[in-house]
Amino acid sequence: SRVLLTGANGFIGTHILSQLLSHGLSVRAVVRSRSKATALASTFPTAADTPSLDFAIIPDITAPHAFDTALQSPQHPFDTVIHTASPFLLRAVNNNREFLDPAIQGTTRILEGVRDVASSSVKRVLITSSFAAVADLANAASIGAKVHTGADWNPVTWEQALDEANRGVAYQASKKFAEEAAWKFMREEKVGFDLVTFCPPMVYGPLQHEVKSLKDLNESNGRIYNLFMRSKEDADLPPNGVYLYTDPRDLAFAHVQAALIPEAGNKRFIISAGQISSQEISDILRKNFPELAGRTPKGNPGTSTLPEKAYSADATPAVEILGVGFHKKEETLVSLAKQLLEVERVQ
Ligand code: NDP
Repeated sequence: SRVLLTGANGFIGTHILSQLLSHGLSVRAVVRSRSKATALASTFPTAADTPSLDFAIIPDITAPHAFDTALQSPQHPFDTVIHTASPFLLRAVNNNREFLDPAIQGTTRILEGVRDVASSSVKRVLITSSFAAVADLANAASIGAKVHTGADWNPVTWEQALDEANRGVAYQASKKFAEEAAWKFMREEKVGFDLVTFCPPMVYGPLQHEVKSLKDLNESNGRIYNLFMRSKEDADLPPNGVYLYTDPRDLAFAHVQAALIPEAGNKRFIISAGQISSQEISDILRKNFPELAGRTPKGNPGTSTLPEKAYSADATPAVEILGVGFHKKEETLVSLAKQLLEVERVQ
């Protein structure tokens, strides 16, 4: 089995790469520059430059035919494509199009590429979408205790997506419109491969990629560090943000299983470990790291800051079809915070 993986150097991409390699699959990792390929190779020294792992550089995933060369592997053709590349760093963009264009066009380009140059071998394309494509996250109060399934879609409009006053909504919209474009492509094109999408909420958890400086932390883990590990004991708790979370190891496992299990085809999987509130995050950090006592808001330990009617999600299909299990909150946050404190010491 051979897999083309985009965004391979990202927080989630590196977890997927690691698990694909442990399953003995051969991977071509797509990154944006030679230096990113070199850095990623150093994370996987035993696999790099063997038939298990090679690299393709695609500086601009929105360019027409961007993936055509990378998708060709005559000696050992691809049977699976995993597309994770999409901008999520809120601080790194100057306008909403910088979210929307790479998300939507990158998704379309990769599907076109598979159709045009790899349709004789590729059986399945997997896309890392988001719970942002599922839920009306901008209106959490009005959706009450709704339990979301893969049948739900965020009602965010294109007009809202272009509202320059709201980068967060633009990111959410980028995921919705990108995933929508993928399913539309599948309906309209008669292709011989199927599609699987994953809709994880906030992904918190350990880093598999190299982070030399905490300035470079990915968006979701950056939230834990910046709001919960650099504050004060008596500060207000941060807002809850997204009420649901998942661990990158479980999300990566879902991707690998979906590459291997035929019944996963044409499904949209919510990968969520469950609800988490700001109070619980603080409680776990304060309980496990005495050194954080002065810098993690205390709040009211043992309570939850989620509203009484808080939305949730049904991850049963991922459990039943993909065999996904979920790390406990404590395992997720303790392993992350340990690493963050270590990076802090050496950076
Ligand atoms: P990272 O920022 O760590 O990784 C993003 C990856 O996408 C990197 O490889 C990055 O490459 C690439 N990328 C970003 N912007 C572009 C662009 N304009 N063109 C080409 N490649 C680009 O984030 P995550 O690992 O968290 O995100 C991976 C995927 O998971 C994304 O699709 C994201 O939407 C999705 N997701 C993440 C969640 C989370 O909480 N982390 C939750 C739900 C979904 P480079 O290093 O060159 O910038």
